[in-house]
Amino acid sequence: MADIIRLLPDHVANQIAAGEVVQRPASVVKELLENAIDAGSSLIKLIVKDGGKTLIQVVDDGIGMTDTDARLSFERHATSKITNAEDLFNLSTKGFRGEALASIAAIAHLEMHTKPENLEVGTHIKIEGSEVVFQEVSVTPKGTSIAVKNLFFNIPARRNFLKSDQVELRHIIDEFHRVALAHPSIAFNLYNNGSELFNLPKSNLRQRLVNVFGNKTNPKLVPVEEGTQVVNIKGFVCKPEFAKKSRGEQFFFVNNRFIKSPYLHHAVVSAFEGLIKTDTHPGYFLYLEVNPSSIDINIHPTKTEIKFDDEHTLYAILRSTIKHSLGQFSVVPALDFEK
Ligand code: ADP
Ligand code: MG
Repeated sequence: MADIIRLLPDHVANQIAAGEVVQRPASVVKELLENAIDAGSSLIKLIVKDGGKTLIQVVDDGIGMTDTDARLSFERHATSKITNAEDLFNLSTKGFRGEALASIAAIAHLEMHTKPENLEVGTHIKIEGSEVVFQEVSVTPKGTSIAVKNLFFNIPARRNFLKSDQVELRHIIDEFHRVALAHPSIAFNLYNNGSELFNLPKSNLRQRLVNVFGNKTNPKLVPVEEGTQVVNIKGFVCKPEFAKKSRGEQFFFVNNRFIKSPYLHHAVVSAFEGLIKTDTHPGYFLYLEVNPSSIDINIHPTKTEIKFDDEHTLYAILRSTIKHSLGQFSVVPALDFEK
């Protein structure tokens, strides 16, 4: 029998990777916002049109890229964030896989302007379906602007699978909230179809929560704070009387990264036991700081699930910290529990 195995061409490999990284416009938003944060930006603008189907643009004032880096940033496994496997166990950046831009460029039309502070001129590059259309010198401010158009232009099945503009915008806003809540010291703007939806100035955490969720949020917040050898916890839980029928505002951040953890969620809910009705859900915004070497973020391309070395200890500390914080606010179980 003849040999039949061959290496896939790069653009095919990129398209396959894109299937995992980019589910919908909100996935592109997440990747671009995270890149802007990793670039040390202090102001990040997100501009979308038609729920991201027509345009997703992120403009930052971060470190920018040289013309060579600008070209290289769209190659697969091209990253400035890690250099060896050990670095995986000591991550301080959002990105490290070097896959996002290559993936997005494989399935969309993409245009980038970028310039590092110390250079006179920047670079303008246009890529469609992994093909460089042109790269030229451009006069542009310090930082990077990336515009993604016609997402899934070459994967009709994916494009047809997208929901209405409103639903896609909802997903984008959720992603925007997660990133903005993780980084109160960075200013963010969000525009949809030309109108400003959010204008979040640089602030502290409480103020950021109010700017995102409105003034009604402020009186609900009970501060949570604890420092141990395993974890530092800060943030807020909402007072029990504000528990809601629908699971709404529940956020975990680990080392400034939004994550989902049913196990830690359970720890929080159990701290509210006896204080809220069992069919209601407490609000929380909890920031855990752990040693980067005690977690594994590299489980899934979107990085919203992570593995902790010692989940059980974390659970116990979180539960008792929240119980303590609620106790300090002299919350009494005032609810009648009908059977
Ligand atoms: P990763 O973030 O995992 O490194 P990406 O594909 O998202 O991979 O980006 C590739 C590289 O492009 C990054 O490592 C970074 O050097 C550069 N880059 C991407 N976005 C920006 C940006 N907004 N500002 C400066 N550099 C960027
Ligand atoms: Mg990235």
